[in-house]
Amino acid sequence: MNTKQDFFTRKKEELAVVLNDVQLAAVRHTEGPLLLLASPGSGKTTTVIMRIAYLIEEKGVAPSRIKAITFSRAAANDMKDRFRKFFPYLQPVDFSTIHSLAFELVRAYFRKVNMPFRLIEGDADMQFHKKTILRNLYKSTSGVNITEDQLEELMTYISYIKNKMVPSEKWASVATEVPGAERILMQYEAFKRTGTGQLLLDFDDMLTKANEILQKDADLRRMYQERYDYVLTDESQDTSMVQHVIVEKLVQVHQNLCVVADDDQSIYSWRGAESAYLLNFKKVYPDAKILYMEQNYRSSQEIVTAANQFIKRNKHRYDKNMFTENPAAGPIRFVRLPDYKYQAKYLAQNIGLLENFFETAVLYRNNTSSIALINEFDRAGIPFYMKDADNRFFSHWVVQDILNMMRLTFTDKRADILEQVHSKLNGYITKQQLEAVKRIRNNKSVFDNLIQYAPLKAYQKKQILEVKETLRQMNGMPPLDAIKVIRGRLGYEKALGNLCKKFGFRKDYLIGILNTLEEIADTLSTMEEFAARLKHLEQVLKMAKLKKGKNAVTLSTFHNSKGLEFENVYMIDLVEGIIPGSDEKEDELLMEESVRLFYVAMTRAKKSLEMVSYEKRNGNQMMDSRFVSAIKKIVSGRKKTTRTGSVERKVKMVGLGKDTAEIPYNPNAIKDVSAFTVGKKVKHRVFGHGEILSVDGDTLEIRFEKRVVKLSAVTCLKMGLLEEVDKL
Ligand code: ATP
Ligand code: MG
Repeated sequence: MNTKQDFFTRKKEELAVVLNDVQLAAVRHTEGPLLLLASPGSGKTTTVIMRIAYLIEEKGVAPSRIKAITFSRAAANDMKDRFRKFFPYLQPVDFSTIHSLAFELVRAYFRKVNMPFRLIEGDADMQFHKKTILRNLYKSTSGVNITEDQLEELMTYISYIKNKMVPSEKWASVATEVPGAERILMQYEAFKRTGTGQLLLDFDDMLTKANEILQKDADLRRMYQERYDYVLTDESQDTSMVQHVIVEKLVQVHQNLCVVADDDQSIYSWRGAESAYLLNFKKVYPDAKILYMEQNYRSSQEIVTAANQFIKRNKHRYDKNMFTENPAAGPIRFVRLPDYKYQAKYLAQNIGLLENFFETAVLYRNNTSSIALINEFDRAGIPFYMKDADNRFFSHWVVQDILNMMRLTFTDKRADILEQVHSKLNGYITKQQLEAVKRIRNNKSVFDNLIQYAPLKAYQKKQILEVKETLRQMNGMPPLDAIKVIRGRLGYEKALGNLCKKFGFRKDYLIGILNTLEEIADTLSTMEEFAARLKHLEQVLKMAKLKKGKNAVTLSTFHNSKGLEFENVYMIDLVEGIIPGSDEKEDELLMEESVRLFYVAMTRAKKSLEMVSYEKRNGNQMMDSRFVSAIKKIVSGRKKTTRTGSVERKVKMVGLGKDTAEIPYNPNAIKDVSAFTVGKKVKHRVFGHGEILSVDGDTLEIRFEKRVVKLSAVTCLKMGLLEEVDKL
């Protein structure tokens, strides 16, 4: 037995991991360029980690000579964790993002040439922040304020150009919906160079600069080239052109580069990722070895077969055939709820019943979906982890508007509070009118002062008195009712409509915020409690970042779930308009990216995968995502041709009450509350058999085989969760 076999035999004994032939070849091929192109769950990351250990243990390479590059900080941390889990006794290598490598280089260079620079992204001072600069430039070129959506779009446009290394003469040809984007970018570039006393750099500039430095500074180039003997990159399908060329320069001398990728999981092309580069790998590295892996070790038969079939609807891809030897683990489940508003409750109810939260993830496309979830999960006492917790919801101006209007119900003497919302109430009080009464200190209602002292239009007086009276009536109202009054009688929703027309905000987004606030307000009795609940949730959200590795459900966007795996996965919001998004339907390439995103999400599941959609949202009829329909079709098609009789192929559908009458959901479910009696034998979808121990109002206490749980009777009825079991 030679030493190499020793390594693999040892790993088999220590870790119970037996690498397959391709994985073995990838680990052993340490010298020279290697491209490992493989399907999800085929062991790419595992192979990279084994390869690092192999280099250290078998080849005697010092850990400091190995560089593992990822493209997000989260991915770098995940890899570090996995490495530590596998090889706790080894000194970890340098797992870091390409941005941090670029930053080091840029810092070294500017120190050398003795030139100060300032970063304008991340934790940068707001005064010099990229967003502030772009906002100012937009305002000075177009005369109006940029909306948040436009700002996001403008930043994407800039990132795309920088990452793709598009020369300035072609900037105008890059599509964007932001008017004058090219001109703003020109001004932005000039401002960064000469607008302040020092050079300003954003995150994309760090990459561009690092590449330039490697190009023109022979000393620094040599220094960095000599720093690492082995370079590895995971998730390389999401590498951009500028990142590829930085890596090229870094490994130019020794060419010991291992690139791991799956073109079917490329989900950042909107930001300039260049998965097509992988096609040209041989051109850049003529001696490269290219290996393919198609066996999936992660997921069940059902998931692998459906995902493999599904991704074939894309035309622009390497044809692969993912397969697995894993056993069947039950069919993919499809759930269509009557309304979006049940979704978070449904998830909390179902997930709350699970034995173990750690291996469960709820995945959604848009970050905004998370607020309704954390509200319900927090209420249900379900711990959750969020890598990408985003606190922007709580500081959003719509949320602040609602809180300010609620404050006005406690006192209407404060002109400073009214000043925050004056134009968004019936009566449309203008700035000038408010100015007229702002400095009056007579301890009277600001509305009375307006009527007495401000120059009002004839129609305003009546409306302002109505607003005053409505606010008075709202005093002490439960917050849900108060929000409804604000939206309707106080004219807030109408005002939002006008603002959308004027500034181009997305109305459905703003309405979504109001609906989420209503969900949060539901069951609370006072507005003070509501304000406190928002504060509490904001805090909970902050804490959610720290729950990593704890017994907590993971809540994540599809994008951020890349590379991860869970026993149970719930994919939610699977409706047309969200996935695929409205603008993706018209564009073949965008549509393919949407397909890949869906594919990434579904291939996170090891055993249980549930796809959740709904019929209505905010009163609008919703259609199931075409991808859900496609998976249903694949699954039902497979049912007919299946060879393995033991595999259950039936698609299980669960609905909520009458609204889903056409769906053959559990027809045996208990539908009447009178059936809930102590001693009754029941069966639950997830828990199995049990017996009702007590009925207390809406709370059913049931002893199931493994434990006793409390369930809401109404939810059980609505969702058809319980069946009556014959005593015989
Ligand atoms: P993704 O494309 O989603 O990033 P991946 O290709 O990186 O997936 P890994 O995460 O490395 O795949 O592996 C998926 C799962 O398969 C892990 O649980 C891993 O432990 C397991 N696995 C990988 N290789 C083997 C093997 N040879 N034998 C048994 N299990 C394996
Ligand atoms: Mg991986």
